[in-house]
Amino acid sequence: MTRPAAKGWCPGAYRPMHSGDGLIVRIRPHFARLSAEQALGLSQVSQRFGNGTIDLTSRSNLQIRGILETDYDALMTELEALKLLDEAPEIEARRNILVAPDWTQADETYALTTALTRQLGALPALPTKFGFAVDTGNAPMLTAASADIRIERDLSGALLLRADGAALGRPVTGETAVETVLDLAHWFAQNTKGQSLRMAQLLKTHPLPTVWCQTAPAETRNTLVPGPHPLGYVLGAAFGQIDAGAFETLIRCSGATGVRLTPWRLFMLETTASGPWQGFINHPEAATLNVSACPGAPACGAATVETRDLAYALSKHTTRSVHISGCSKGCALPRKAEITLVGRAGKFDLVRNGCSWDQPERSDLSETDVLTIADEIYHAL
Ligand code: SF4
Repeated sequence: MTRPAAKGWCPGAYRPMHSGDGLIVRIRPHFARLSAEQALGLSQVSQRFGNGTIDLTSRSNLQIRGILETDYDALMTELEALKLLDEAPEIEARRNILVAPDWTQADETYALTTALTRQLGALPALPTKFGFAVDTGNAPMLTAASADIRIERDLSGALLLRADGAALGRPVTGETAVETVLDLAHWFAQNTKGQSLRMAQLLKTHPLPTVWCQTAPAETRNTLVPGPHPLGYVLGAAFGQIDAGAFETLIRCSGATGVRLTPWRLFMLETTASGPWQGFINHPEAATLNVSACPGAPACGAATVETRDLAYALSKHTTRSVHISGCSKGCALPRKAEITLVGRAGKFDLVRNGCSWDQPERSDLSETDVLTIADEIYHAL
């Protein structure tokens, strides 16, 4: 089956998205980090104007949802006071920059992200989902995360600029990296001619000039997992949905100075405390880490099924990767899972080793049917 067309844009603070439960407002913290004050403020804003939850997104952003249109202006005033708004909507729309979450203020990820942010106005017109990854730890860790232009390191530790979808990249230095990013973005814009493509799609029909394909990146290093980390403590929330009240308590009790966001729906408390962290995923074996589920009905108007109660129930049965999607769009996991259950007309379709938009092998399953055959499904994999 064909993947359903994406909306082509992501919500922001200036550009909220309508959903079944009100407006969705997405916040893009600089360096994917909130100070403790911002984290507390956002928790309170979510409880006051939204549905009391904060979603972690796969682009290291946060979103609050369930906002009444009549509350939107007051919400924006609060976000501005927390310094969580860009100076203009156009800058917010372009600031799709992923950063390796273990950056420090003395390293090149920080310096290059700062320099790239200053140059956003010099980019050509690009599709709204177009993004960048500044991933200059000793080896890349954002390889599987969504980005079109990546700054990484090669095996010798030198900087490299790589177009997503290309195996090789172009050597750069700290001084030339950002201007080379701009050059590659202009090459992309000239060749897409306004089509809403991503870099990897373009490269299938337009090979890069050889100057961009010289050096391989270093082998990808492991992503973060819940547990202690040299910079703090990594935590998760089931399905990437944080209870805002629990988050507020967590920030206050941990003495955290800040919170770093990751594209893996995990966040890192900048703290020297070691827990316990009630209500959060704090170890890599947690069952719900393998299970993805979008908000489903009634939060999303496209869904005809509830998703998360079933996701919790299934997480107790298996360590397989499971995806419960309210419809075939697959927002929570736009890639393969071992088991995918897709809502359609109030029932579920079952896809094994595929995506939510793939041909199902069984259809019209009720929630009870799914739970009844759960063990059979897992063993047949
Ligand atoms: S996948 Fe889920 S969140 Fe996305 S549109 Fe479908 S029901 Fe809504």
